[in-house]
Amino acid sequence: MYNSGNDILKACDILNKPIWEIVLLDEIENQHTSESDIFNRMEETLRIMENSISYPIDNKVETLGGIIGGEGKAMMAYADSDRTLSGRWTTKAMARAFACSEYNASMGKICAAPTAGSCGIIPAAIITIAEKNGLSRQAMMRGLITSAGVGKIISTNATVSGAEGGCQAECGSAAAMAAAALVEMNGGSPLQSLDAAAIALKNIMGLICDPVAGLVESPCSKRNASGVANAMISADIAMSGIVSVIPFDEVVEAMYNVGKGMHENFKETAKGGISITDTGLAYSRKIK
Ligand code: SF4
Repeated sequence: MYNSGNDILKACDILNKPIWEIVLLDEIENQHTSESDIFNRMEETLRIMENSISYPIDNKVETLGGIIGGEGKAMMAYADSDRTLSGRWTTKAMARAFACSEYNASMGKICAAPTAGSCGIIPAAIITIAEKNGLSRQAMMRGLITSAGVGKIISTNATVSGAEGGCQAECGSAAAMAAAALVEMNGGSPLQSLDAAAIALKNIMGLICDPVAGLVESPCSKRNASGVANAMISADIAMSGIVSVIPFDEVVEAMYNVGKGMHENFKETAKGGISITDTGLAYSRKIK
């Protein structure tokens, strides 16, 4: 049983196993399930993720509020254009995160990882980096299991809800979970995985939740796109050997404290941030 990053690191050390195996063993013991059951569920999850990050690129979808639409397709065309500033793979991952947000906003079936609002970050990161580095399906599942372990620690000790902790708790947690997964998939150590998660979470600490018209469309889709880039650069920082000055558990605690201190206008109430700009309010009037 683990409740913190420290618990996981100790278990990795004692049992000489990577994070995903510790998470797997814990799940088997506490959910009274089997390894094959878990991998079957992960395979199903991965299929849902693959569809949700690609469907809106290949098909037109109508979102509930009509505030967003077509970003995934436009970004993918740009990623393929050779004109990108942040590189083909980063922009490709961003396209997929955009697409997943569109799919969610059009009531498509997504995997809420950890929430529907932040659903694009983990699949876009894992699937794109697996494609880029020629990684196996098993490696992708190991990444998913690692991300689940990080998500469990954040939800146990803090929150992954925008209504409780602002967008830092949603898109920040998703980026942290994805960053840890990427390190695991690419041969980094357990400490590097948690450092990557800590760095991703620190990068957007304090980010408020301010959905225009109260819909999970704007700024959510762009925060998914920037969230996957955050996950990728945080994983690269950790893989380079640069450490997180503040350990993962302390960063999670800090994020929770920041969330608790946030005014309620900034926690999914659509009463602050960009939701009450002239344009945000105009959308709100138009939709309601
Ligand atoms: S702005 Fe709010 S609703 Fe949108 S993704 Fe962030 S936490 Fe979720």
